Amino acid sequence: MKLLFPLAFLVVAPGFAQSIPAARDVPFAGAMTLTVDLARVTQGIFQVRQTIPVAGPGPLVLLYPEWKPGNHAPSGQIENLAGLKLSAGGRPLAWRRDPVNMFAFHVDVPAGVTAVDAEFQYLSPQKEGSDRRVFGPTMANLQWESLSLYPAGYNVHNIPVRATAIYPAGWTGWTALRGQAQGSTVTYDQVPYDILVDSPVYAGAHVKQVRLDPQVSFNLVADAPWQLAITPAQEAAHRKLIEQADKLFGTRHFDHYDFLVALSDYQSGDGLEHHRSSENTLDADLLTDWDANLYDRYVVAHEYVHSWNGKFRRPADLWTPDYRQPMQNSRLWVYEGQTQFWGDVLAARSGLWSKQAYLDFLAIVVARYAEGYAGVGWRSVQDTTNQPIVTGHGPGGAWPSWFRGADYYRNSELFWVEADATIRRLTGGKRSMDDFARLFFGVEPGAWDHEVTYRFEDVVAALNRVAPYDWAGFLRTRLDGTDPSMNLRTVEAAGYRLAWGEKPTESQRRLLAKQKTDDFTYSIGLALSKQGEVKDVVWNGPAFQAGLRPTEAIVSVNGQAYDAEALGRAITDAKRGAPIRLTVKGDDRFREVGIDYRGGLRYPRLEKIGTGEGALDRLLAAR
Ligand SMILES: [Zn+2]
Repeated sequence: MKLLFPLAFLVVAPGFAQSIPAARDVPFAGAMTLTVDLARVTQGIFQVRQTIPVAGPGPLVLLYPEWKPGNHAPSGQIENLAGLKLSAGGRPLAWRRDPVNMFAFHVDVPAGVTAVDAEFQYLSPQKEGSDRRVFGPTMANLQWESLSLYPAGYNVHNIPVRATAIYPAGWTGWTALRGQAQGSTVTYDQVPYDILVDSPVYAGAHVKQVRLDPQVSFNLVADAPWQLAITPAQEAAHRKLIEQADKLFGTRHFDHYDFLVALSDYQSGDGLEHHRSSENTLDADLLTDWDANLYDRYVVAHEYVHSWNGKFRRPADLWTPDYRQPMQNSRLWVYEGQTQFWGDVLAARSGLWSKQAYLDFLAIVVARYAEGYAGVGWRSVQDTTNQPIVTGHGPGGAWPSWFRGADYYRNSELFWVEADATIRRLTGGKRSMDDFARLFFGVEPGAWDHEVTYRFEDVVAALNRVAPYDWAGFLRTRLDGTDPSMNLRTVEAAGYRLAWGEKPTESQRRLLAKQKTDDFTYSIGLALSKQGEVKDVVWNGPAFQAGLRPTEAIVSVNGQAYDAEALGRAITDAKRGAPIRLTVKGDDRFREVGIDYRGGLRYPRLEKIGTGEGALDRLLAAR
């Protein structure tokens, strides 16, 4: 059987025999040109034309990027590519999709042909879903990897490309690329293909640029001009973010850095890191309703940290020569986990968050992994690093508290908080994770045009240079562990303990309002929309035991029409023995459900242990 199957497969699928050349570190003759025409972008249509030099006649494979940097997953949106036509010297060339790899197109190049022309359309999703909508009524997001093919057989860094964008009249495109504008057509300087892919564009009609320092700019594009009104205090906080990052890392690994910030209710939300820029699509009212958007202010800090952590220093198994070779995510607890850690710390040090906001948001994280997520008992943080590949970077399914999601972000953040406290304890307060950051991310000062990769041993060695300790054991115990109580100990080592109140803290209240969520996670184990639809049921919680599932709706509480206040009152009254009876609607059926719970309303917060400054207090103080 073992022999027969592949033979039979070859007979029915002869195309399988035509292989796709692996990427090699060899020079590429000539340069690709790429033109993206945005004439129909407000319909979500990006028109692409490309010229790809070829070495000679014979088989050629053109690839559409599959493994997207920063997504850590095979999330290339091949399903959005349409209208593909190939030609040479004006004559059509037949293409055939690889029978196994849907991202690969085979073409036979005739004799005498020196370049293949390609054209296709990238059709953006029309509304937010698992794929991002990359346009709004007055803006667009050009992600070059969605807008180009590249020839197989070369390291993508070896393929030069000259890109041109034809914008609608009156639009401005922000990007880390530099180029020449002629009217609304911008021709960008020739760069290696991987740098093009790492240099997306946010373009739009309503734009504003704020210079944060000579090298760093904050480039805004909004749905409407009044949304661009940035206050002096907001500017100052972002300037302080840049200053604090300089003090933390001691060097910059870029010649310039361009924040791309879209304020939009239409283009899908995003935070995506790049070496010399970042994509940050945030709510349209980010600046004009600054209080309501308290939580999301950390996003730009997080993405900025990635220039050092992830882009310049990269896990060895995440570095790939092209976008076809699978990435491996084993070090995402550094790449994302420590970026979450530093992004949140810098948000506090810069004033984007108050210290109290930091503590209130961290309380949610501690509560989630110490109590809320039963999945901590079966799935290690290390295993969650596979999550982007498991779900193709899309959202996970129902029951996140059991399945777990991309927990290598925030669960690892706790481990780095504990590592900081541990270093301070070991060195009598003389050293901290700041020393690790300077040592590990500050290597090769000023260098930016390449990546410096690392392995687990390198992380351990750098920690040992800061403070000798069993760091391999420290990390492995936590990353591979399945004991929820280890998460409580992270903040306790840093001078805070998890405590409970009957109301969300002010910062948490703002976050819940933004999420349009009423949260009963730590009482009856439910998160609900304002209309009473069940967003989440905590695995093994009281509502779970009563048989509820996500997408059902609570119609009434103890005979009264549902609202969050009525449910909150019922939960409080149940402490004295009153019932919690819910009418639940699911799949057009109604049923009565009794919730067996007497513990009252509970919301997490962090409470200081003892007096005087603890490790976390010192960590959060501006430098
Ligand atoms: Zn990140």
